[in-house]
Amino acid sequence: MSEVVHRVVVASKNPDKIREVEAVLAAMEHPWEIVRDLDWPDVEETEDTLEGNALLKATAVSRATGLPALADDTGLEVDALDGRPGVFSARFAGPEGSYEANVDRLLSEMHGVEDRTARFRTAVAFVIPGADPVVVEGVVEGSITTERRGDGGFGYDSVFLVGDRTYGEMSDAEKNEISHRARALRALADALEGHPDL
Ligand code: IMP
Repeated sequence: MSEVVHRVVVASKNPDKIREVEAVLAAMEHPWEIVRDLDWPDVEETEDTLEGNALLKATAVSRATGLPALADDTGLEVDALDGRPGVFSARFAGPEGSYEANVDRLLSEMHGVEDRTARFRTAVAFVIPGADPVVVEGVVEGSITTERRGDGGFGYDSVFLVGDRTYGEMSDAEKNEISHRARALRALADALEGHPDL
């Protein structure tokens, strides 16, 4: 890749997500300069796909700040629930669903269910003013435990099993090595290589 630095605003107000995005970008070979301490009006996630919502957020924040913006939208797809909660993962337990309430709802819907396979999917959109947006995704296959395990991470991490450990049982660095979000961000870095507008 060229020596161009990707200057970017992380279009999220979720500190857990921002921490992970920043850690993954910081570990990349190509330098990213993260612009912090900006504000923008809240963006409502009105699309019915992860890609649509990621693009909506990145576009709005790029317009509001005049800078390139990167947004992530993530969903947990559970096979026995026909792919739910998916794009509605943040609101699984209702509009104000807390992490705890969402996990409670998931464990209760999965009570006694044998097929526990699931995947985390992250769509990442990168919007550069005046250029075509780039949208990529990252997926990690796993399964849903029957009870919480580990107190690392956030959201559904304590019930999402990859191999023999939940994300919640991994250190931040271990999760960031293998996660759906890290995969999406690495796919973005690959897609930006040779991008005509950078
Ligand atoms: P959103 O991308 O902010 O809409 O997140 C959707 C939902 O999935 C929220 O409830 C998040 O807490 C949860 N979530 C997003 N990313 C992760 C993750 O990496 N691990 C566990 N839960 C996550």
